[in-house]
Amino acid sequence: MDNSKRNFLKQTVAIGLTLPLAKIAFAAENVDEKSPQASALGYVSNTKNADNSKYPKHQASQQCSGCVLYQGKAGDKSGPCPLFQGKLVSANGWCGSFVAKA
Ligand code: SF4
Repeated sequence: MDNSKRNFLKQTVAIGLTLPLAKIAFAAENVDEKSPQASALGYVSNTKNADNSKYPKHQASQQCSGCVLYQGKAGDKSGPCPLFQGKLVSANGWCGSFVAKA
């Protein structure tokens, strides 16, 4: 097999492996507030709805986008959080594990 055919084959295989991963990334769903895990962590998709009686240290200015665990980019509406593997948390969300970015 000559080099051009070999390169074409490599690129085709690389694209074939990359596309399913991209599809998985786009398929991530938002965290369901009513799921047992979200309830256990006090997660809400809007920080305004946090249960202040249960989480008295919660402040309205705290939200996922300002949490050290938030992995979304600035300006994203949602992003990954390691506490919710394979799901997305709202940038405006909040949970009881909130830790402010330094
Ligand atoms: Fe949001 Fe941080 Fe809680 Fe994750 S740990 S859900 S980013 S507040």
